[in-house]
Amino acid sequence: MNERQVIRGGRVVDIARRTAEPRDIVVAGDTITDVVTPGTAVADARVIDASGRLLMPGLINAHTHSHGGLGRGAGDRWTLELLLNAAPWLSGNRSMEERYLSASLVAVEMVSKGCTAAYDLFFEMPAPSVEGLETVARAYADVGMRAVIAPMMGDRTFWAAIPGLLDALPPDLRSGVEKIQLSPWETSLAIVRKALEGWKFDRDTVRLALGPTIPLHCSDAFMQGCRDLAREFGAGVHMHVLESKVQGHAGLARYGKTLVGHLDALGLLGPSFTAAHAIWLDDDDIKRFGDRGVAVAHNPGSNMRLGNGIARVRKMLDARVTVGIGTDGANCSDNQNVFEAMRLASFASRIQGHDPSRWLGTDEVLDLATRGGAKALGFGDTIGRLAPGAKADVVFLDLGHVNFIPLHDPVNLIVHAEDGTAVESVMIGGRMVLDHRRITTIDTSRLAARAQDAIERLRSVNAPARALSDKLAEAVGKFCGALDEKPYRVERHLASQ
Ligand SMILES: [Zn+2]
Repeated sequence: MNERQVIRGGRVVDIARRTAEPRDIVVAGDTITDVVTPGTAVADARVIDASGRLLMPGLINAHTHSHGGLGRGAGDRWTLELLLNAAPWLSGNRSMEERYLSASLVAVEMVSKGCTAAYDLFFEMPAPSVEGLETVARAYADVGMRAVIAPMMGDRTFWAAIPGLLDALPPDLRSGVEKIQLSPWETSLAIVRKALEGWKFDRDTVRLALGPTIPLHCSDAFMQGCRDLAREFGAGVHMHVLESKVQGHAGLARYGKTLVGHLDALGLLGPSFTAAHAIWLDDDDIKRFGDRGVAVAHNPGSNMRLGNGIARVRKMLDARVTVGIGTDGANCSDNQNVFEAMRLASFASRIQGHDPSRWLGTDEVLDLATRGGAKALGFGDTIGRLAPGAKADVVFLDLGHVNFIPLHDPVNLIVHAEDGTAVESVMIGGRMVLDHRRITTIDTSRLAARAQDAIERLRSVNAPARALSDKLAEAVGKFCGALDEKPYRVERHLASQ
């Protein structure tokens, strides 16, 4: 499709200058070819009226989980470890249709809230499947949203991952847990290789990456296998790194060094590596990330919801770490609203110290959620900006909405006032995927009913898994709670830089 379009009459946000000047955007096919003064003649172009609209680059969600779409609202007072303890019933036994449904729900929500691309760590038990990965890819492609899908994998279960936890479980529960097995790493990697080799989706829209979920959950051979496969196919690697203090202690106990030090020794860290959360990094860990060109996906909503703390983003930026902003999965944070994630990223930085020059400015936050996210997803500068040569991923915000009245600094309003409710239309790759608040690509009318049917079925098939997880929760909470009480090498209050 090389049709020419011109988006006329809107005001285009300039993040660095904090302005929104009237400009027309010229699009050919899926790419922006020009940003011109209003009214400039553009031959043979279809006109899209953007009068009364603020135009900004599509937001990029640097970390989510599409399987979480059917887990939204399932838990309340969960730490990360209690969430992982619940994973078998929360995300297990999904049919292909349910995997598609869950991803569709998540994609539709993201687009409706101004997000045009996401890094999705998608989970299947006991191993990823080619069909599952293609099913999720199809969900994104059908909605018309960009995604990097990283199968979330491990060869060690959560209970085996934390040194000492299995031994701390009552014997009857321990034997129940030991029956839960993940596939050997060779099996998982062979499946991902097959998916990579046979990938038939447009890589500019939906591509594959590798998601060895958490260092502690993966044998060294597994992580090295992911590293090599990623190199061979030019794919990214996305892991959860030091999300909780418990993981910090468990890492020291297992490897005798920090998890970041261990990943570095295995040769995992590099420009195509994205670390989600990265909360419990010491100064040396942060420096390593900067030196290796690693990207971090900062998820302040999830980090607060699970009580994990807040990443030291200012220190990361000082160390030249690429940072994107994510929502994390709907099963732990619960909406998929990057506007809210930006607002929380800004606010959270302000409880980390009294020096306002160390806080994240709204211009910085918006830059992280657009250009930073683009880099974290491996898209370079092809998305995340409204400029010639970039993909035409454009969010139309209604300037008549109360969120933009009065129109002070537009960047402040986007980060601190907008909550997704002023998103009126969303163009992705030149196509209007959300048009006047209606998704144009798929029929969304039945999604709600299907989601309700799916969770009723899943509740019943996953009842035994839930019963086991509920029984385990007390022992898991006690063991991990004790670890959390122990001072870790980053001796700081959670809310400090
Ligand atoms: Zn996650």
